[in-house]
Amino acid sequence: MPSHLMAVYNRADVEVDRGEGVWLYSRDGRTFLDCVSGIATNSLGHAHPALVAALHEQARKLWHVSNIFRIPGQEDLARRLTQNSFADVVFFGNSGSEAVECALKTARRYHAVNGSPERIDIVGFAGSFHGRTYATINASGNPDYLKDFGPRLPGYEQLRIDDAESIEAAIRRPTTAAVIVEPVQGEGGARALSEQWLRHVRRLCTENGVLLIYDEVQSGMGRTGKLFAHQWFEGLAPDIMAVAKALGGGFPIGACMATAEAAKGMTFGAHGSTFGGNPLAMAVGIAAFDLIAKEETLANVLSVSAHLREGLERLAADYRDIVEDVRGKGMLIGVKLIPNNREMMATARGHGLLVAGGGENCIRLLPPLIMTIEEADEALVRLDATFAATRAAAAKVA
Ligand code: PMP
Repeated sequence: MPSHLMAVYNRADVEVDRGEGVWLYSRDGRTFLDCVSGIATNSLGHAHPALVAALHEQARKLWHVSNIFRIPGQEDLARRLTQNSFADVVFFGNSGSEAVECALKTARRYHAVNGSPERIDIVGFAGSFHGRTYATINASGNPDYLKDFGPRLPGYEQLRIDDAESIEAAIRRPTTAAVIVEPVQGEGGARALSEQWLRHVRRLCTENGVLLIYDEVQSGMGRTGKLFAHQWFEGLAPDIMAVAKALGGGFPIGACMATAEAAKGMTFGAHGSTFGGNPLAMAVGIAAFDLIAKEETLANVLSVSAHLREGLERLAADYRDIVEDVRGKGMLIGVKLIPNNREMMATARGHGLLVAGGGENCIRLLPPLIMTIEEADEALVRLDATFAATRAAAAKVA
């Protein structure tokens, strides 16, 4: 049967039906251990009872109103986000891309109202991912995502993480508005930036009046064992931050968070969204936030991710012909492979395990933050079987 969907996704042959906790069930009766979690989104697992209850309760009261009215849930979620971070103010959208868009606009606007409208340049990094809108593909600079969409937008450049000289020159340039960086690169292959690197860039930005934007769409909301990944380091807060994915536990929400100073250009009429921060999203977001921010949840991320990591290192030692490197932070884990990662994802599905792809030929494991040690062991057993099957198939070809 011909599909009436735009063919932009390379979809796996799994027609999903329902989910519960770490498990995902397909229409044809297969059961998968889900280490994709909607790509780091369903962080409390599928169909978490507290989220289901929050959604039901709100659905009976009020689904949607325009932002021309006051939406109490927005104040409640914004209070939680600001009380637990560097930020003073929040703008709610519906996705990671929108959160990043708002961050980019906030940065340029800041300089415009500060009397420096020439400061428009956004400095990003190779291997980053910031979304699929025009601004965000320009901020990431991945040529595959820019191809055939006309000229690049002015004022965006990407540097290599290890090109210290160019980074310093770019931040010192008087036309630079902001630096945008993922403290742990997600799509690029689960690469955690070092404290030293982040500290250097933070210092350069502060010294030169350049705003620092963290894209914590993937690394935020508990994924690394802190509410936000940059909170692993003292004194390394950004001026603006994009958050999404796990913020809604599977319900579409994005948030751009900023200091009052950085947001001073975002005055009446500067930005907006029809659906952003709608009552349904806020009800689920509040329930998700309260569970994710709990000490027990974050402690679980640390203990289960350490267990997973240990098991993965063991597998890496057993399968030197398959695994090149294990990397990442907390439950944002990358396994850099020697065989093709896309084929490995398919083999893993054959063994009832869902893993995501990533840059540098990685597979990524992004399990729900509530995963138990037993479930982590099951994931390792299934990955072991996946690697064994890959090795056996390679031996057959040879
Ligand atoms: N930033 C980062 C770091 C991401 O990982 C993603 C999504 N993978 C985005 C932005 C874009 O988010 P969305 O797909 O919700 O627009």
